Amino acid sequence: MNEAERCAEQMKNKGILIVISGFSGAGKGTLVKRLLQKYDNYALSISMTTRQPREGERDGVEYFFRDKEQFEATIAQNGLIEYACYCGNYYGTPKAYVEEQLEAGKDVILEIEIQGALKVKEQFPESLLLFVTPPSAAELERRLVGRGTESMEVIRKRLARASEESEGIEAYDYIVVNDVLDVCVDEVHHLVDAARRAPVRREAFIKEIREELKGFAKGAE
Ligand code: 5GP
Repeated sequence: MNEAERCAEQMKNKGILIVISGFSGAGKGTLVKRLLQKYDNYALSISMTTRQPREGERDGVEYFFRDKEQFEATIAQNGLIEYACYCGNYYGTPKAYVEEQLEAGKDVILEIEIQGALKVKEQFPESLLLFVTPPSAAELERRLVGRGTESMEVIRKRLARASEESEGIEAYDYIVVNDVLDVCVDEVHHLVDAARRAPVRREAFIKEIREELKGFAKGAE
């Protein structure tokens, strides 16, 4: 088997768990949507939340919309990889889908906030953590207001939360500035591709080549 074949073989193996976080209004949703349209190696995890659906949002598509009791029952059943409270609502990642898709070799995207991202990194140290930000704070406010989906009170809460979240950016592997969408999409795709080549994800390859080299070393004795 040559290097290219080995690499292809490994790619058939487990997928990469990708965490995408960023300030509310950074354009994560659009970025992820475009990534899924453009490339076929990704699967998007649908989170569970207790927040009310926004206009046009459907249960099981953008989120699984559940009440507090149902959410807490899922926590008790150990059905979530992580969960967090964000601006007064629960948000969490259902476990089964993520595990299935990773096993099937898909690169699974979690679009989650920072507390959840840190919990994922603890449980899956080999996961890839990306932080998406607009070019400036002024641009963030402009996008939040322009979106027109939240009241000024909610926007203020989200900007305050963004300020808190900016303190945690160093925990991420990479920062991606979302200025021109398609450039940003390709940048994320390249980072995922590079992550696939990290030694931690190439254990089988490393083991094999070590064995082969030992064989050569013995022959030289
Ligand atoms: P939104 O209400 O705008 O849809 O989401 C609010 C925040 O919750 C966003 O930062 C989003 O990334 C985050 N979020 C969505 N799903 C999850 C989840 O399953 N877990 C965590 N920890 N955060 C999530």
